[in-house]
Amino acid sequence: MDIEALLEFDRAHLWHPYSSMETPNPVYPVVSAHGVRLKLADGRELIDGMASWWSAIHGYNHPVMNQALTRQIDQVSHLMFGGLTHPAAVELGRKLIDLTPAPLQTLFYSDSGSVAIEVAIKMALQYWQANKEPQRTQFLSLRGGYHGDTLGAMSICDPVTGMHKLFSTVLNQQHFVERPNCRFGQACNEQDIAPIATALHENQDTLAAVILEPIVQGAGGMWFYSADYLYKVRQLCDQHNILLIFDEIATGFGRTGRLFACEHADVSPDIMCIGKALTGGYLSLAATLSTRDISNSISRSEPGVFMHGPTFMGNPLACSAALASITLLQKSNWQANIEAIETGLREGLAECMDLPQVTDVRVLGAIGVVELNQTVEMRSITERFVNAGVWLRPFGNLVYLMPPYVINRDDLDTLTSAISTTIGQLS
Ligand SMILES: *Cc1c(COP(=O)(O)O)cnc(C)c1O
Repeated sequence: MDIEALLEFDRAHLWHPYSSMETPNPVYPVVSAHGVRLKLADGRELIDGMASWWSAIHGYNHPVMNQALTRQIDQVSHLMFGGLTHPAAVELGRKLIDLTPAPLQTLFYSDSGSVAIEVAIKMALQYWQANKEPQRTQFLSLRGGYHGDTLGAMSICDPVTGMHKLFSTVLNQQHFVERPNCRFGQACNEQDIAPIATALHENQDTLAAVILEPIVQGAGGMWFYSADYLYKVRQLCDQHNILLIFDEIATGFGRTGRLFACEHADVSPDIMCIGKALTGGYLSLAATLSTRDISNSISRSEPGVFMHGPTFMGNPLACSAALASITLLQKSNWQANIEAIETGLREGLAECMDLPQVTDVRVLGAIGVVELNQTVEMRSITERFVNAGVWLRPFGNLVYLMPPYVINRDDLDTLTSAISTTIGQLS
């Protein structure tokens, strides 16, 4: 393989996430990956601190996952879900309904997190049309939130980081309240809850739903907030008869130390979106779950169907990857693994606290975040990390990591010491 030619074509023709075709940042060619290691074309190996954006929870090239997919390929790789079904979709559905909060009883498969959010938005809208309150068309979300890149999802992302200005003529205008100030582990007082309480009260007749990431805000700021806040939001939504949608796309499947982050507050949503780690990082799959009340309302009134149906809905390969991944997770000692990672992150990132460049260090479950007093230059800091043998991708003023759950303490220590050393070298 001629790596130079490959990189040249990539630079000239391929968009990468949030990239420029004019002045692209360098990309690193990976030829294979195993466990927590990515192998670059030049032979170097990097310890993965990102789990490919929350998804590769079992690491790469896992024999059990590989075998499940091979078996499914020998049966059927893809089928339209219109008018047909198959064992992997049914078995996965059974498992997901069993594992998620009890009120969630129906499930819609889609192919990415953003689409799962679009589906949730449409479900809420159709629900209120069915319940003769068609004026409920607005959504309320938190500043610092991230829910995906499609137009509906973008309209509920943080207005600044979600680039609402750029798309202001096409994005629906939604309501936003400041992110909760009360941190995870703390109680949430009157003052903390006041902004959302007021907004819900003032807009109680036009709001279709509140949508938020429970406990952990991901790409919009990597912020961990009080379970008490989440509990109180559930109460407020009940009081005002507003639906509550949880985006568990990043937090789902153990990342925060609970299978789903909403379990920290012991509350359940009316609609819930999952994705990312669902297939253990093997294939793109997402799902939107809802209560029976929502699915019944939609199904019992005009036009009597839910208006969505992706081509690759319930793809058999993706469903069998998800089944294998969840089974692997359940058979593993995942709570202990996450706890060990949490301890490793706390101990490993502690020295960052003493650096003048650092304003905050926070750890929850298998997520570690170092907040800086400056915006990092992505290109140069990534290069430094690569030279230190680790794969990390900071954004803004945040250096963060959420490694695969199978990482051992030595590899985790390599990641955290690369972080403290590299940050310490910034001016
Ligand atoms: C990644 C993410 C999404 C979007 O998922 P995609 O698969 O990238 O479309 C939505 N919500 C949250 C919380 C996410 O982390």
